[in-house]
Amino acid sequence: MLEGMPRPLPNLDTQPFWDGCQEERLLLPRCSACGEGRWPPGPMCPACQSQDVDWIESSGRGRVYSWIVANHPVHPVLTGQVPYVVAMIELEHNIRLVGNVMGCAPDEVEADLPVEVIFERLEDGRQLPNFRRVETAE
Ligand SMILES: [Zn+2]
Repeated sequence: MLEGMPRPLPNLDTQPFWDGCQEERLLLPRCSACGEGRWPPGPMCPACQSQDVDWIESSGRGRVYSWIVANHPVHPVLTGQVPYVVAMIELEHNIRLVGNVMGCAPDEVEADLPVEVIFERLEDGRQLPNFRRVETAE
């Protein structure tokens, strides 16, 4: 638990995502009209301009698409956390979500590494989605 971390600020477009996190469910927006994944959440589909959206529960499994190893803490709370991995995770519906990869050393992270979502509880009870390595891919 990282006490003092800045909190996400949900808005009309992201509230269902954060509500899902509270229930340990990874909900992703998908256009109701054309079926395209929509990330980051926004008011309109970039593919067909529809304003209709469905929130689909993700399996939470994905693969590392890209990543960096943070060696310099960008916030004082992170001083004891470096080095850590910030990765773009490829999920279903062509959605790539950014999060930390935990449960392995930073030098073990590689492209296509299979991961699954985990939820980290903050001191105020909010939950953040991050990822951990899984040994086998589906
Ligand atoms: Zn669309």
